[in-house]
Amino acid sequence: TGRWARAVAILKEMEEKCGTPIGKLRQVADAMTVEMHAGLASEGGSKLKMLISYVDNLPTGDEKGLFYALDLGGTNFRVLRVQLGGREGRVVKQEFEEVSIPPHLMTGSSHELFDYIAAALAKFVATEGEGFHVSPGRQRELGFTFSFPVRQTSIASGDLIKWTKGFSIEDTVGEDVVGELTKAMERIGLDMRVAALVNDTIGTLAGGRYHNKDAIAAVILGTGTNAAYVERAHAIPKWHGLLPKSGEMIFEKIISGMYLGEIVRRVLCRMAEEANFFGDTVPPKLKIPFILRTPHMSAMHHDTSPDLRVVGKKLKDILEISNTSLKMRKLVVELCDIVATRGARLSAAGIVGILKKLGRDTVRDGEKQKSVIALDGGLFEHYTKFSACMQSTVKELLGEEVSETVVIEHSNDGSGIGAALLAASHSQYL
Ligand code: ADP
Ligand code: MG
Repeated sequence: TGRWARAVAILKEMEEKCGTPIGKLRQVADAMTVEMHAGLASEGGSKLKMLISYVDNLPTGDEKGLFYALDLGGTNFRVLRVQLGGREGRVVKQEFEEVSIPPHLMTGSSHELFDYIAAALAKFVATEGEGFHVSPGRQRELGFTFSFPVRQTSIASGDLIKWTKGFSIEDTVGEDVVGELTKAMERIGLDMRVAALVNDTIGTLAGGRYHNKDAIAAVILGTGTNAAYVERAHAIPKWHGLLPKSGEMIFEKIISGMYLGEIVRRVLCRMAEEANFFGDTVPPKLKIPFILRTPHMSAMHHDTSPDLRVVGKKLKDILEISNTSLKMRKLVVELCDIVATRGARLSAAGIVGILKKLGRDTVRDGEKQKSVIALDGGLFEHYTKFSACMQSTVKELLGEEVSETVVIEHSNDGSGIGAALLAASHSQYL
């Protein structure tokens, strides 16, 4: 029928526009390298934000002692403690707790929010039991993962640029978030020092390095896409501070947001409007932005049942579209594949861009230096087809010989344990 042909035409057009042939990916990777250079040259030198992390020491494995971490980046926040046993003992013991933030505190005053966080932390510290020891006379130290835009001013200070993700507290904007937390801890008599303020990519890089000394970059594929890598400080023209002893400076770089489920919804909506794909009327739910989330899309994409039962159920449960034919469901799966493949291949190009910037996209004189990239985030972890495609595209772009030197490793829980490790490597007692 005309309907079907029009829907297929929209799908084909989408496929064409989402096309990522290898030549295009190489261009993306090259452009990425160019923009990274520009972003390092001057503040505002590129739309690609190259933010200095002030982390000049990644964990070595020798870290010892008790360290805390606090991860604030959404509606939940987590507190964590880890007892590090040095080269031999490694992670001796760790514990964490998840605390939810009451919605009214997300739009209240800075004082109230940080008081709440400090109180939850104090409560957690009070449960510190067997297996955890702070050295006599020493202050407890904390790594603070704060996943909001911050203008960092040192390893343990940074001013909030703006709140995101539903937070809106006027009096925190422009303030040093470490100062806010420290003052709140003082108010309730919690004796703890913030040793490191980090972003989740930096935490993941730290966790990755702790497990593998060849880790040179970290990529988060979660709600957003973001990356961090180790740069040589003298390759950063805009850095006017002292050169760190290690000669390295880690940068964090925002690649792009990925709203895969929403893209799928928009195309389905267009099919409904322009091709009457779901009948004579457009299903009302289909018009609601962000109603189709990426985990739903992922579930449909991975549906292996012969009648695509999962696809049918998702369309019915989420979009209230019933009685879909197998042919229609197949088309939905194809659409998911187009959208996921595009995102995965572009992510791969971004990763290759970082490798290029570091000169690790070639094998020099047969020297096989390993490059480990620590990956984390819900998308990478749970969307199997996405991560598989991303990894095979990295191989495709690098070629066989270089691919053998590049390892993509899932680094679990960087924002938690990674931040604690950075507190250890930036401890006042070193
Ligand atoms: P954040 O960036 O907010 O810290 P996470 O790393 O926790 O995010 O990942 C959450 C994101 O991962 C979700 O927004 C979603 O896009 C994606 N995700 C989670 N579960 C799945 C899944 N089963 N399939 C596909 N994507 C998923
Ligand atoms: Mg996260």
